[in-house]
Amino acid sequence: MTQAVRVRFAPSPTGPLHIGGLRTALYNYLFAKKHNGDFILRIEDTDQNRFVSGAEDYVVNALKWCNIPFDEGPGTEDKKGPYKQSERKELYKKAVRTLIQKGRAYYAFDSSESLEKHRVSHEEKGKTFIYNWHNRLKLENSLSLSKEEVQKRIDNGDRYVIRFLMVENGGVENFINSTDLIRGTLRVDLNLLDDKILFKSDGMPTYHLANVVDDHAMEISHVIRGEEWLPSLALHHQLYIAFEWKTPQFAHLPLLLKPTGKGKLSKRDGDKLGFPVFPLDWRDPETGKVSPGYKEAGYVPEAVVNFLALLGWNPGTEQEILTLSELIGLFSIEQVHKSGARFDPEKNKWFNQQHLQHIEESVLEQQLIKDAKAFDIVVSPEKAQKVVRLVKERASLLTELWGLSSYFFMDPEGYDAKAVRKQWKEGTPEVLTKFLTFLKSASLSEPSNFQAEFKTWIADESISFGQIMAPLRLCLVGKLSGADLFEIICFLGHKTVTSRIQKALQNI
Ligand code: GLU
Repeated sequence: MTQAVRVRFAPSPTGPLHIGGLRTALYNYLFAKKHNGDFILRIEDTDQNRFVSGAEDYVVNALKWCNIPFDEGPGTEDKKGPYKQSERKELYKKAVRTLIQKGRAYYAFDSSESLEKHRVSHEEKGKTFIYNWHNRLKLENSLSLSKEEVQKRIDNGDRYVIRFLMVENGGVENFINSTDLIRGTLRVDLNLLDDKILFKSDGMPTYHLANVVDDHAMEISHVIRGEEWLPSLALHHQLYIAFEWKTPQFAHLPLLLKPTGKGKLSKRDGDKLGFPVFPLDWRDPETGKVSPGYKEAGYVPEAVVNFLALLGWNPGTEQEILTLSELIGLFSIEQVHKSGARFDPEKNKWFNQQHLQHIEESVLEQQLIKDAKAFDIVVSPEKAQKVVRLVKERASLLTELWGLSSYFFMDPEGYDAKAVRKQWKEGTPEVLTKFLTFLKSASLSEPSNFQAEFKTWIADESISFGQIMAPLRLCLVGKLSGADLFEIICFLGHKTVTSRIQKALQNI
């Protein structure tokens, strides 16, 4: 029987979920759903010093907003849980005891000062100090000390850590070959690896131990994570061997690069260039400073997910605009790229603009109604629907909708000076006054009918399109941009159009 696909996203709650972490979560989700598997959220909170309150809720809310829900995780039915490492301490203790019994882990009492001394003395000889087969018997640990001495120190309450015994001896044939689904075979010289700490002196497991123990206990079939964990692969591989557990398959995702393509994308890049690197607004609990999120900046989750999915992977076709279910259908981990993916904020906006044209219009309408409220303007659902259809094509962000359509609900606050200089001619007031008379008897119930009536009228009056369209737009919108003028006129109605023209005639 083939093993069921179970993948996990395992963030440490040390701050808000960065866009890179979100992509890791997304790839895990796509992979799980593609193979009818489970997507698990595990909170890796063993490092108490780096714990940030609110970070766990933030991850949960961000995944929810992106519509990539986890099947198991904090708050779900406890199938293989608990899903927070701080609630699984007993398991790690038991696991490390097993390793000690198997002779693959040992107590080490070296103080940080004495380790520092070794480091310095090695450096003086032009060597690098590695706590492994090379040095371990010269150091203070349960391999070099007598059983009685070790027990005495433990009973005494001396501080100790528990280290992994990497390889028994320093033979030359100590390479391991492990495969990565994205990178192929990786060859690592175990002689160069150190005896990593598995248990810290504060009685907490390190990331390495807890991560491997949990992946095994939660029956994770594939570990899909960021490239920064590639250097840990050999150690994790060795831990599985030492425990005599089946090794999951690994896939290390490429980095997200700065818009320049040089270096890893950071929060500072976002601050500098004015784009969010977090899914939701994040308020730092210590400083109170808010870092912007995609949601609040006017992005829709459909676009964020689509854009992120294509940062480091593509389905091998030209099609770029894809729904979540299309992404699931097309996703393949083997097609993920090895090299870093450049983050392009403009492209991100383009994806958003494209998705705004396809998603439920009610989302856009609600945003418009909400943003109008800030100006004390109540927009009815019917009007919101009409206006959204007229302006959405020009909106890259949800938050731009109000700016693109406020003239449907408010008189212009001023008139674009440059446009006035260019388009407001000597004869303009006369043309507009004639238009006011024509308007009185024109029907505004249907923009296309009105347009036809208008065309006949200007022909009869020998008024050119150029003479009237731009001044009319200036009167109604205040500038030369905006939706179709006939649509605007029919939406505003006789009274508002008349008053705006009269106001402009007085003020320009
Ligand atoms: N807690 C690790 C992190 O925050 C998880 C790494 C892994 O997926 O193994 O990145």
